[in-house]
Amino acid sequence: MRYIEPHGHMVSRTTDDYLAMVTAGCKAVCEPAFWAGFDRRSAEGFYDYFCQLTEHEPKRAAKFGLPHFSWLCLNPKESEDLALAADVLALIPDFLDRPNVLGIGEIGLNKNTANELKVLEQHIDLAVSRDQLILVHTPHLEDKLKGTKLIIDALLNHSGTRPERVIIDHVEEHTAPLVLDKGFWAGITLYPESKCTPPRAVDMLETLGADRIWLNCACDWGVSDPLAVPKTALEMKRRGHSGDFVDQVLYRNPHRFLSQSPNFRLQEET
Ligand SMILES: [Zn+2]
Repeated sequence: MRYIEPHGHMVSRTTDDYLAMVTAGCKAVCEPAFWAGFDRRSAEGFYDYFCQLTEHEPKRAAKFGLPHFSWLCLNPKESEDLALAADVLALIPDFLDRPNVLGIGEIGLNKNTANELKVLEQHIDLAVSRDQLILVHTPHLEDKLKGTKLIIDALLNHSGTRPERVIIDHVEEHTAPLVLDKGFWAGITLYPESKCTPPRAVDMLETLGADRIWLNCACDWGVSDPLAVPKTALEMKRRGHSGDFVDQVLYRNPHRFLSQSPNFRLQEET
């Protein structure tokens, strides 16, 4: 089995996790910029983090033969301080030319506040103006439906948005159709305690079909499972889905979306 982990916060994982992922068939890992678990106090903190995502973590992954790609942004949780957000947004353009950068993400909303929306719009503008892919985080639980609608409106309000170049992640049963109907890609996030379990994810695939959908584990410093994607393949096979279906969802779909970035090239293809 081969798969791509399109959303993993590897800076918070151990080398044992890298080894387990590669052993399970992982062919590439993509790391969106994320909240650190605490608020960074200065733009310099973000500068160091962007260096970690574009210089240091790719080297750590390379020790296990795993190509590592990254996405850059200010997380929605970090958007309330508009002065800090402006300073960080000004840093990002210089990093976009680094060879492992795929686009702007994970942007979006957390508590659906006015400041979060303002910073989201600035990120969308930056992505469109620099012809970058976009990866979107959607809020949790009771904020998810409203937040997803606000995000879709913000994306479509920008005349330069091309939905086929945007993935809206952490979809659930009630938000996936909104995302897919507008032409965006949808990500299903597998978590042990929240978001989506493997059986629920396969239920969604059986309802929605597999077009323009990827699976990810979003593994970070909280309770999460870096092997959630290959474990979901086991659930697919248990239900009788074909190896070709598994390969489409776990490998060919993320490969198709990510290949819209000229920086996404895997070793076996070059
Ligand atoms: Zn994430």
